[in-house]
Amino acid sequence: MLLIGENLNVMVKKIGTAMKEKDPKPIQELAIAEAEAGADYIDINLGPARKGGGELMEWIVKVVQEVVDTPLYLDTINAEAIEAGLKVYKNKKGKAVINSIMARPESMDVKFPLAQKYHAGLDGYEDEVAAKLLGGDIESVEPFADTEACAEQVLATICSTGLVDLKDIARSYMRMLSSSVPPSDALKHLVRRHMIRISKGGAHPTPLGKATALSFLTPSQGYDIQKMAGHYDVLEMAISLEPFQNVYLTNKLQAEVNSAFRSFMPTRLFSGIFADVTSLSGSQGAAGRLPKWVFEVFSRWVREFFSCGCKEYPECDHGKIAFGQWIVSQRKDGLNPSGIARLLRKDFELWAYPGDIFSWLDSLIHSLRAVRRIAEVAGETDITMEVDDQIARIERPLDSEKEKDE
Ligand SMILES: [Zn+2]
Repeated sequence: MLLIGENLNVMVKKIGTAMKEKDPKPIQELAIAEAEAGADYIDINLGPARKGGGELMEWIVKVVQEVVDTPLYLDTINAEAIEAGLKVYKNKKGKAVINSIMARPESMDVKFPLAQKYHAGLDGYEDEVAAKLLGGDIESVEPFADTEACAEQVLATICSTGLVDLKDIARSYMRMLSSSVPPSDALKHLVRRHMIRISKGGAHPTPLGKATALSFLTPSQGYDIQKMAGHYDVLEMAISLEPFQNVYLTNKLQAEVNSAFRSFMPTRLFSGIFADVTSLSGSQGAAGRLPKWVFEVFSRWVREFFSCGCKEYPECDHGKIAFGQWIVSQRKDGLNPSGIARLLRKDFELWAYPGDIFSWLDSLIHSLRAVRRIAEVAGETDITMEVDDQIARIERPLDSEKEKDE
């Protein structure tokens, strides 16, 4: 834990007077006391001092450094004062740090080139994070996948360690091997997704943030589920978190398709090509070489999986979600994963490993619990019973059927 002496503050009456009267004694006494108490940095807080800030900072940095060699924390929104302080700063034990938590975006442009010019510590970067968060606008942009992953890690860190201080968070973030995006971007993303609140230089997880971290969801997943809760079917929400992907054409069907198209076609149902089977017509081109039974199979796919009719089709996820719903409904009818795989082959000329179906159903239960957790945060407590019912019917389909009959 980093200790920063907070007392060299113009707002403290004794110090304020000493600053005004240019009386070094009270300031030096305090600096010594802080250094002896083990402060890592001595905070020089000029507060909102505008006029003469440069001159005042220069004087304080000099008088403090006459008595201690602890690094200094230049705590002011006055860029001129920071420049003056850095100019006379002697780098003995460490670099000066610019505390710009109160900084506004327009002052950042001045401050950060300055930090580079005078080689302030890396902590300046962490301050940049804080400043960007507090002063910067949180624009709504689609995050890069990396931002999502890094933000997820930061949220997990905040929730599991209880770190609040932005500097501590940024510091622990910098130690993460996979941090490929700036901590400010990761934190901004968390704010945008309502995972954390920033106040007084600290990051505080929201109830949604906690539920999201506990459910191992990404910030965007948690955010989306909260928005959908109460409007969408719980099963659909859970399936959309992790749709079933590993479903393939049977060898028999694959052979027909390859021969008709005279090339090796993708073997996965969700490769993007087969979602577009509706456009295949028996009368023309390569499709004309396909036997009739293949078209019958395709039309069963369309009826069961690719019937969303939405604008994004076939780029949408509705096919995958419908496929997941089909698996679940077979499971609720009492089929085990092997039985589901057999039916898939028989009715759709598709195959999937029973092991994949088993682990997908298992992870679906986790997803359903995640939906329940987040819906509860959103105040959608009606969902609780529905999720519990869905889980029971997936875990023990025959038991719940029996209960219903009784
Ligand atoms: Zn669709």
